[in-house]
Amino acid sequence: MAEIQLKNLRHSYYPNPKTDADYALKEVDLVWEEGLAYALLGPSGSGKTTMLNILSGLLSASEGQVLFDGRDVTTLEARDRNIAQVFQFPVIYETMTVEENLAFPLKTRKIPTAQIKERVHFIAAELGLTSLLKRKARGLSAEQKQRISLGRGLVREDVAAILLDEPLTVIDPAEKMALRRTLKAVQLHLGVKLIYVTHDQHEAMTLADRVVVMDDGEVVQVGSPEELFANPAHKFVGYFIGTPGMNFIDCQLAEDMLIVGQTRYKLDAVTAKKLAMQSGGLSFGIRPDFLTLGAEQPGFSIPGTVVRMENHGDEHIIAVDIGGSQMLARVEDSVCADVGDAVHLIPSGEAIRIFAGQHVVPL
Ligand code: ADP
Ligand code: MG
Repeated sequence: MAEIQLKNLRHSYYPNPKTDADYALKEVDLVWEEGLAYALLGPSGSGKTTMLNILSGLLSASEGQVLFDGRDVTTLEARDRNIAQVFQFPVIYETMTVEENLAFPLKTRKIPTAQIKERVHFIAAELGLTSLLKRKARGLSAEQKQRISLGRGLVREDVAAILLDEPLTVIDPAEKMALRRTLKAVQLHLGVKLIYVTHDQHEAMTLADRVVVMDDGEVVQVGSPEELFANPAHKFVGYFIGTPGMNFIDCQLAEDMLIVGQTRYKLDAVTAKKLAMQSGGLSFGIRPDFLTLGAEQPGFSIPGTVVRMENHGDEHIIAVDIGGSQMLARVEDSVCADVGDAVHLIPSGEAIRIFAGQHVVPL
């Protein structure tokens, strides 16, 4: 176990990077605490694999340092970093049996045979591989092979961290949830740091104590799943997390009034002053979960016209045109509205967030 720190890290795959656009990672400063399960969440191409490979030592960063418990490991080879890594696709020995594959990371570390056997059987049971232990890996399905890869990543008890890069890609969707639970259980049992890369917010939210959100080579926010949902610090977090994501509407400040579409919100003096000091255009952010349809309430409701309804069983997503831009509201089945109806959207006051440029304004 170790605390891992990334300091002033930058990485470019080009020999002579010039602009920020040439960097796959731009100025990352991050501490990964001991014993927590982390998700590294971001869209494809945001730099997740690059960061993971720099952590494990498979890739050497162009600039910056990697520290384990304060010790500089930047120039240490992957095999000397005491890290287990699982990739998107199986990396196993085809000619070995499942048991030999699982035992391999322990054998190379001279662990007593009885202890190896016990550990291999435990991991095999967790991953549903017990009945396959004596089989050669060659000839097994891609999914079974990926379970072996996962087992090889989880089998050691003395690792500083376990890194998993979208490891459930080849696993049948019906099995994913059970495997996520297994990963979480093993992590809790070992008390080890787990770093799990995914582009799937649901996977991140169910597995992780902390989510590191990446966009375009930058870490935009680190927080618990609840924090990211309730208090996105950056617009990207607002719309990337939550289904559908946060609504953002450009708004203007006029003295102590905030003008959102045709609605004017009266602000208290302190808030108005804070907003007046911001540079960058203001936008009004609210999650679809915190909008309801109701009667007009001057100063509180946003008038608009229903343009689309999506039926999601026990709830509806309603798209409302509020004069050039659209807002989505998540409402219960019992709320009746039809396309073309004039409605009022009522935001729940404490769920409103104001952003200046890309960043939230702390109010
Ligand atoms: P993610 O894992 O989030 O999908 P990556 O870390 O793989 O993102 O990629 C980040 C950026 O670096 C992308 O723009 C990608 O095209 C680029 N990149 C990744 N690997 C290489 C490479 N070996 N050579 C050049 N560019 C790369
Ligand atoms: Mg990747």
